[in-house]
Amino acid sequence: MSDDWFSSEKAEGYDCAIVCENGHPINEHSGTRPAFNARFCKGCGAIGIVQCVDCRAPVRGNELGHWGGYTPPAHCHECGTAFVWTARKTAALQAYIDEFEDFDGPMRELLSRSIPDIIAATPMSDVAGLRWKTVIRGLKENVRAGVVKLLTSVACDEFKEQVGL
Ligand SMILES: [Zn+2]
Ligand SMILES: [Zn+2]
Repeated sequence: MSDDWFSSEKAEGYDCAIVCENGHPINEHSGTRPAFNARFCKGCGAIGIVQCVDCRAPVRGNELGHWGGYTPPAHCHECGTAFVWTARKTAALQAYIDEFEDFDGPMRELLSRSIPDIIAATPMSDVAGLRWKTVIRGLKENVRAGVVKLLTSVACDEFKEQVGL
């Protein structure tokens, strides 16, 4: 282990990360701990992303010297472009809303519009959380389990907290 690795623990700022296309962190300290780098996700097999497709800024990793508690960013911190996993999560939620028969037209519309507030923290995330909480409560038990699982895997922390996930 080099001196650089130790000194990085005292440094301030963010490391860079490798995150798979589906949003699983592969290495949240890819700059300072490259020994843990990998090209593919061991969980789902998708390829790892290291930079924004738009501005090529490195994917923001965990804070230097901070271990655990890392959630990959939904958007690039330099230009705001959504990462591919954010687009995939959006598509998964949209497909669910579209295919679920119990939602009537206006409800479907309302829930579709709340997707960006579910995926990433916005001023509307709390409101979206309250709305979905009511929806979830009204679902049949077998359906509810699926919805909770999907939301748990795609939602931002603020939303999850509001819904109680
Ligand atoms: Zn993965
Ligand atoms: Zn960017």
